Amino acid sequence: MSKEVLVSVRGIDRVYQTKGETVFALAGVDLDVYRGEYLSIMGPSGSGKSTLFNMVGALDTPTRGEVRVSDVSIASLSSLERSYFRCQHIGYVFQSYNLIPFLTARENVALPQIFLGIDEPEANARADEVLTYVGLGDRLTHRPDELSGGQQQRVAIARALANAPSILLADEPTGNLDLHTGGEIIKLFKQLSVETGVTVITATHDHKMLAA
Ligand code: ADP
Ligand code: MG
Repeated sequence: MSKEVLVSVRGIDRVYQTKGETVFALAGVDLDVYRGEYLSIMGPSGSGKSTLFNMVGALDTPTRGEVRVSDVSIASLSSLERSYFRCQHIGYVFQSYNLIPFLTARENVALPQIFLGIDEPEANARADEVLTYVGLGDRLTHRPDELSGGQQQRVAIARALANAPSILLADEPTGNLDLHTGGEIIKLFKQLSVETGVTVITATHDHKMLAA
């Protein structure tokens, strides 16, 4: 099987200008990620991990250089096209879960599918399937405040998977979790990568999580 480059980052800088100060959050970064790869990016706080994820996740574009995902140049897309591209291709998992508090687990996972025009019964059925996969088949109608941190992160992972993305970006996904629960979340990402073939890119500043 030949290896397919899914993410290609070439010579990117991301420069932030604030009050006369110039910050190079990224300077001359090159990266290739192959389809199906499981990649952990390790670096101290402030080293540009979230900035890089924002580029690969089509939330932002570089000051210089090019990012291609599935051979699409992100900078060539309009902001509307970029939203649609993100919804179809990218699953994002954040440190702070970012679930919608007044929606149930099922509704949180159905939402990105509704954005893509999938009707509600189908979106709910898919939500239940993915939530069951991540181990929450018995928590479908719970709201975030009725779930533990680890369970909330599982809902966030289910939401990220809802539209069957090609890339799962997990930015410090264990940052709010205790060591054991964080380890379980890392195991889930590894299982997902093997079983579904989704390309997983995680970022952490925590050495302990690399051992999980
Ligand atoms: P990490 O995720 O590795 O902690 P970040 O990508 O968040 O690092 O930040 C990289 C650098 O860019 C830091 O020095 C940070 O202060 C700076 N930075 C990030 N976002 C902004 C912003 N919106 N405006 C100005 N500086 C920023
Ligand atoms: Mg960060």
